[in-house]
Amino acid sequence: MPVPTLSSDDAFAEVKAKVDLVKVVQEHVRLTKRNKDYWGLCPFHQEDSPSFHVNPQRQSWYCFGCERKGDVFTFVELIEKTDKRGALVLLAERAGVELKQLSPDQKDRADLRKRVLAMLKLAAQYYEYVLWKSPAGEPGRRLLESRRVGEETARRFQLGFAPAGRGFAEYLRAKKRSLVDAQEAGLMRRDGTDFFAERLVIPIRDERGQTLAFTARAVRADEPKKYINSPETPAYIKGRVVFGLDLARDEIARRGHAVMMEGQFDVITAHQFAVTNAVASSGTALTEEQVRLLKRFTDELLLVFDSDRAGRDASRKAAVLAAQHAMRSRVVAVPGAKDPDEFLRSAGPDAAARWEDLVAKAPSGFEAGMEEDSVGLNPSNPNQVERVAARLREWIRQFPATLREGYAETAERHTGISRHLLLEEPEAKPARVAQNGAPARKPARRVTASGYLLQLLAVRPSAFDRVRTKLTSQEFDEDDRPIYIRMLESYERGGPTGLEADLAGYPAEEQDLIRRAWAAPPPNVDDEVAVELAERIRLEHMKGMQNGIIRELSEAERGRDSERVAQLEAQARELGRAITDMERRS
Ligand SMILES: [Zn+2]
Repeated sequence: MPVPTLSSDDAFAEVKAKVDLVKVVQEHVRLTKRNKDYWGLCPFHQEDSPSFHVNPQRQSWYCFGCERKGDVFTFVELIEKTDKRGALVLLAERAGVELKQLSPDQKDRADLRKRVLAMLKLAAQYYEYVLWKSPAGEPGRRLLESRRVGEETARRFQLGFAPAGRGFAEYLRAKKRSLVDAQEAGLMRRDGTDFFAERLVIPIRDERGQTLAFTARAVRADEPKKYINSPETPAYIKGRVVFGLDLARDEIARRGHAVMMEGQFDVITAHQFAVTNAVASSGTALTEEQVRLLKRFTDELLLVFDSDRAGRDASRKAAVLAAQHAMRSRVVAVPGAKDPDEFLRSAGPDAAARWEDLVAKAPSGFEAGMEEDSVGLNPSNPNQVERVAARLREWIRQFPATLREGYAETAERHTGISRHLLLEEPEAKPARVAQNGAPARKPARRVTASGYLLQLLAVRPSAFDRVRTKLTSQEFDEDDRPIYIRMLESYERGGPTGLEADLAGYPAEEQDLIRRAWAAPPPNVDDEVAVELAERIRLEHMKGMQNGIIRELSEAERGRDSERVAQLEAQARELGRAITDMERRS
């Protein structure tokens, strides 16, 4: 990473003069003006009353809770999880300042991303035009009518229709725009046909309303795939966007909870029927990134998933994920309907009132799972009691240690099964004994990059400041991910002493690992090593993903699924580029 030179200092100054910190912060935090200053809930730590303070005169911010502070660059660095250079690039783009000091590689990528974003914006406008103003948009209009989605709602989501054939390519040619950019943006196949042809297109926008990708719904009943999605592009990484958040964020803050639905169409219908704090995880199961994003706006998720097995499982996973990030969850079941879309549509004019009713009755995420696990329990049948106890034990065990005891109490009240039985197995199995009579040692764990990094962070939590800008928790090795997240949360809540303060609430084996690191710290404990490890972990993760895509690609090729092949090729290309980029830098 090049050290900022005098000329890039100029760029920092120029950008700083052109952007307004208050506006930048407001895209992420609801600010209230008091006298000359602004206050809001800190996006960097968990709190209930505003201690995050922005001074517009000095263009600086300070949090009285976590004591983080800085200027517009520091803010963007932390909120976008990037470094100083990345913050400069983002803000320069916004301020229209040309950065000459970028390395050619960085410049190429920034340019490509900019062109892709412009192309997506243009496509959204084109599709919207076709939907409302062209005869070709008729099937889209019919679909919306049948789903009872009005024009006002549709326009708020900027829904559109992609016509058959090469309409978009011709439009771009007429406007003298690059078809290659449209391919990079995942909008067009190499032969110029529209990736979304003959589908209703739904823009997937970030929390600021910028279109990053599309999902598209079939209009013909004989279409085998109901939905298709944009591939990952320089502008879009799956699992990082929350669909509908740009429209829902104010209502989420006002109501104090976000309504988390499964499908984009559920969300559109919800907004049509006045549930305007509804959002959806888009294209994937709910991810950690999405939970962290939502946590900037609220600390309660109302989960409304389909009532089938898959929906219930997704709901359980989401409840656990929310709890791991210190968010509350509740589960809304929609009676007599397969999904919220159907429920709201059939309730018609009563939708808002009936919805309020459901929200008021919604049990917590834990309780919903508990009720499911203990349904039909007969307390006088010991076999059945043990079966239910085992299921509940497993359910309780998935939540953070600090919650388990309270949950066991709740479950005891609900089922009559003793809380002690719900917290631990009735007879602990005797420890395995080695031949010489000493307890068998667990096989020593290979020290991986992520294992090393965990030890380092245990000894030097402040290294999180650098590490978290290099690495998302999703990229962390799966085995070590839960402890990593817990440590990060402790750091974010309590700063450098947060880990010590929270440690008693950690699962025993995690406490063990941390105490061992304290007793025998790893060889090199400094920020540079931490960053290096973080980069290595990220690279390994990306390589793993690339292998997965390549495997999937050969499968799709065998199955002659040309759409999927194109999608996977684009993903592999993008990932390959990123990997070469990283390898070159390190
Ligand atoms: Zn704070």
